Amino acid sequence: MSAKENQEPEKVIQIAGSITVDELANELGLSVTTLIGELFKEGVVATINQRLDFDTASLIIEELGIEGVRLEKKNSATKIGNIQHELSDKAVSRPPVVAVMGHVDHGKTTLLDTLLHKKTVEGEAGGITQHISAYQLKHDDRIITFLDTPGHEAFAAIRQHGAMLTDIVVIVVAADDGVKPQTVEAIKFAQGANAKIIVAINKIDREGADVPRTMADLSQHGLQPEEWGGDVVMVPISAKTGENLDKLLDMILLTADVEDLKADVDIPSEGLVIESHMEVGKGSVVNLLVTGGELKVGEFIVAGSSYAKVRTMLDFRGKPKGKATPSTPVTVTGFKELPNFGDQFIEVADEKTARKMALLNAQGAADASASSNVTSSDLLRMMNTADNSKMFNVLIKGDVLGSVTSVVDSLKMIDTKGEITLNIVATGVGDVTENDVYMANGENTVIYGFNVTVPTNIAKMAARDNVPIRCYKVIYELLDDAKAAMSELLDAEIIETPTGALKVQGVFRTEKTSIIAGGEVTDGSVSAGMLARAYRKKELLGEVKVESVQKEKIKVDKLEAGEVGGLALSTEHKIQLEVGDKLEFFTREKVQKTIS
Ligand code: GDP
Repeated sequence: MSAKENQEPEKVIQIAGSITVDELANELGLSVTTLIGELFKEGVVATINQRLDFDTASLIIEELGIEGVRLEKKNSATKIGNIQHELSDKAVSRPPVVAVMGHVDHGKTTLLDTLLHKKTVEGEAGGITQHISAYQLKHDDRIITFLDTPGHEAFAAIRQHGAMLTDIVVIVVAADDGVKPQTVEAIKFAQGANAKIIVAINKIDREGADVPRTMADLSQHGLQPEEWGGDVVMVPISAKTGENLDKLLDMILLTADVEDLKADVDIPSEGLVIESHMEVGKGSVVNLLVTGGELKVGEFIVAGSSYAKVRTMLDFRGKPKGKATPSTPVTVTGFKELPNFGDQFIEVADEKTARKMALLNAQGAADASASSNVTSSDLLRMMNTADNSKMFNVLIKGDVLGSVTSVVDSLKMIDTKGEITLNIVATGVGDVTENDVYMANGENTVIYGFNVTVPTNIAKMAARDNVPIRCYKVIYELLDDAKAAMSELLDAEIIETPTGALKVQGVFRTEKTSIIAGGEVTDGSVSAGMLARAYRKKELLGEVKVESVQKEKIKVDKLEAGEVGGLALSTEHKIQLEVGDKLEFFTREKVQKTIS
């Protein structure tokens, strides 16, 4: 017999997504209380129905030293297929999809507005007053799609959800301000998303504009201008006056040509959700970007756990559109529930299939979110900080789902070094409501609003109940506020710095809370205000405070090493000092820790 056959047969536990504490205990032959107890020892406070994900369950088995058991992932094929598939040889050219990013106030909105009004046919753009998340314009008889993703300052967050959204990222840098933190983030995002970068050096009409310096600045951050032999196209523009915008569009089309952007059209339609919100009378209003196939009214589409029979379809100008080809943004109605920003959508044959797929996706999401009750990284974090982690409770409201997602994702990315646990009590689209305040009350929760308002009666109610509501229009300001709020939850760090020592040579008076004693400073120095620990050999007698310092009966600021003098000390409890005792001086500071 081989060594292998001699071994105990392995028990294989199959896990599809996650497993409850109850199920795992059963599988392992442990009692539930034992498993909960073991989890507790590892810093996980779990209930019988808590779901553990695959990695967590593996980790626990390993920690418990249970042998002969192996976990195996059971495939639950519930996800819609990844829509990045190989193109067929029938694929046709499609317009480039462009996102505009950059530091706040460098002119992104102005650029998008100017382009919209300059380049879309007169009279059409005139009617567009509301915020639109995407539009198309014509240049040289070719179409370019521009995206204005909500909260797109949160690049890192969007990376998770919409890396496939963009072919080209136009990074706007103000020529009078240079590269700033969000410029760097935009560069990182574009690189991470594998998008082509074009830099628009903006505000060249301004007096302080310095294009060469801005280029030098950019090359310091890894973007080498083509003009200087590098590979990044940089176009000096004025978003305000419109100067050089045609050149910028030329460059976008040129880049698109080099990239040879294509898509298949004779496949079921597919794409991404770029915005979604509820509207009175219309129900769910969802903006989609078609990336493949042709989307038509009447088709069934599934996006995440929601599905729709496309009831109406409008182009960005609000005009009915019968069919949308790749790279086209459209607004559709007909979704049963709001899909999420960044969700992929795909056309399916009929309502039955749509319903089934949406349900499967919902189960998949439930599995994922249930298992994310405790993920392995949470577990590791809990193990490290089991007893000192504090909760930061937030309730998030945003104007559209995309901004809520961006805020949530960005908050989750704040590194609290495991000292604070972010607890998202609830999220939602729309203004802050009475129910939000009700939910936040009692839970010590901060309500964050992004691009939403707070009706006066709600603000009054919140003030009465001491529920903080903080509204922002810039995500970074919201994050800064959250970091400051989290910092307040951290305990102040107490820092003691040794300053010197004195050998007691005489004790002149000992009262209940004060001592007059003298001696020689053996190390460092002593001055009024310092604290000291009194020692007899190694025994700690207590802590005292130096009230005043004397030398030859005259009050002085300080006694240095080698000097002899007298000290007036105060104590909380009576301490009987003796000749030969030692005082070790120190200062004590409270330093507030911060999360940055
Ligand atoms: P965003 O935060 O990047 O969207 O920046 P905005 O588009 O809101 O622009 C911020 C400010 O800069 C606004 O007051 C604009 O009018 C101004 N601005 C934007 N582009 C230009 C430009 O090319 N020239 C000048 N002079 N001002 C500009």
